Amino acid sequence: MHEMWWGPDLSREPAWHVLAADKTSTLCGVDKPDEPSKQEPTDKHCFPCMEAFQATMA
Ligand SMILES: [Zn+2]
Repeated sequence: MHEMWWGPDLSREPAWHVLAADKTSTLCGVDKPDEPSKQEPTDKHCFPCMEAFQATMA
């Protein structure tokens, strides 16, 4: 089971990412900071993460 993380993507737009197995980075390559994002989560998802996640599920 992969964990989700709410934070800025590569273009600094906040989105839901899929965390990599090490829990410190995301499948799209964004580094996960220790501090949680202060922005309110929405239902926006990071497309590179979703594509990478679906590729692992295929
Ligand atoms: Zn992502």
